[in-house]
Amino acid sequence: MDEKLTYIYEMFPDAKCELDYNTIFQLLIAVSLSAQTTDKRVNQCTPILFEKYKTIKDLADANIEDVKSIIKPIGMTNTKAKNIIEIAKIIHYERKDSITSDVNELLKLPGVGIKTINVLLAEGFKIPAFPVDTHVNRVAKRLKLAYINDDVSDVERKLKKKIPKEQWIQMHHSMIFFGRYFCKAIAPKCQECQLKGKCRVNYK
Ligand code: SF4
Repeated sequence: MDEKLTYIYEMFPDAKCELDYNTIFQLLIAVSLSAQTTDKRVNQCTPILFEKYKTIKDLADANIEDVKSIIKPIGMTNTKAKNIIEIAKIIHYERKDSITSDVNELLKLPGVGIKTINVLLAEGFKIPAFPVDTHVNRVAKRLKLAYINDDVSDVERKLKKKIPKEQWIQMHHSMIFFGRYFCKAIAPKCQECQLKGKCRVNYK
């Protein structure tokens, strides 16, 4: 594996998903809520949400205003409340509570895109996948593992080529932690970083 990726892996070998969930359905809802916000904020709301709506049917039949008030700290409240209720309706009423790993079926769920699906596959089903979030995207570009103008699907394809398939899941977690806690968007820890000179950032 590329030495930069090995460095990242060795810094965070035990990195893991930081969203709290107990079932694949809860994971799907938590990931859907996590767009444009932090896992920490999602984790503040989901225990209340999952306590109030214990089953998929409960959420499918939920009052949207009640859901909005629970997820208010997460932001994009209207869209997210509408989407998660609709996801629950489809999974409960059309799919008999069954959650598939079929990408085309998952894409039919409202607000569910490739990144959410990749998280669900990797984290929920343990199927090799490489979700590219804001941290993975930034780190890959800073480290010249992708071009600055690459879109997320380019970044995903390039990283998958450089990393053995059996390491995709762990490496994506390690890259997220590296971006979230070390190579941060603002004030990355360049002085402590052994990749100085191998990345695009002008450190002091
Ligand atoms: S030198 Fe700084 S910007 Fe570059 S990878 Fe290290 S922490 Fe990130």
